[in-house]
Amino acid sequence: MIVLKTPVEIEVMREAGRITAGALRRVGEAVRPGVTTLELDVIAEEYIRSEGAVPAFLGYHGFPATLCTSVNEQVVHGIPGSRVLCDGDILSVDCGAVVDGYFGDAAYTFPVGTVSDQAAALLSATSVSLDAGIAKARPDMRLYDIGSAVQKVAEAAGFSVVREYVGHGIGRAMHEEPQVPNFGQAGKGLQLKSGMVFAIEPMINAGGYDVKSLSDGWTVVTSDGALSAHFEHTVAITDDGPVILTCE
Ligand code: MG
Ligand code: MG
Repeated sequence: MIVLKTPVEIEVMREAGRITAGALRRVGEAVRPGVTTLELDVIAEEYIRSEGAVPAFLGYHGFPATLCTSVNEQVVHGIPGSRVLCDGDILSVDCGAVVDGYFGDAAYTFPVGTVSDQAAALLSATSVSLDAGIAKARPDMRLYDIGSAVQKVAEAAGFSVVREYVGHGIGRAMHEEPQVPNFGQAGKGLQLKSGMVFAIEPMINAGGYDVKSLSDGWTVVTSDGALSAHFEHTVAITDDGPVILTCE
């Protein structure tokens, strides 16, 4: 069942989104060679709690941290720890916050120091693909219009779209129906409606789209070891078009 949100609920989600975005910005300001992913996690948790919100991922299905921190070939769900970031790495940071029972969810891939041309192109294409997907989050569109737009941008840049992990509805639960794939055929799928709120989150690989999980039970990596990037916003579908909730 897809839960439509009222304008009042969307305002609460905007607050959860603001805090999520603020945590990501503060993490981004601290990203540099020499910092550990655990230090970044502390920054995010302290900020979220200082705003009176609750970290959404901490304890979620047993996840042990506030952030998912995924470096280079890691796609999503990396666990913060003692890993020291190096010049040339890319770091995907996924963050969520809960306010009054409503969730915000967003991700951003940061360059660490100076990155390769390929890495820079991957970050740019993934960010642009998210914008293209968001532009389709309108009541006159269908679900796969979003994924098709993402896929076109990513593949035109020579990259591939992860199939096994997708975006999702979001509200009083972090993951609600429907699933929101980052691929598919335009014009297909359910009719979008005002009041739907989606986490749109392209995960784009520099190589092939296959991924696998590591033995820690969380970290997902590209099967071929190539770089991966991840950008995400929580977006409300309204009569006036898409509204990004995860912004300050
Ligand atoms: Mg997320
Ligand atoms: Mg998400």
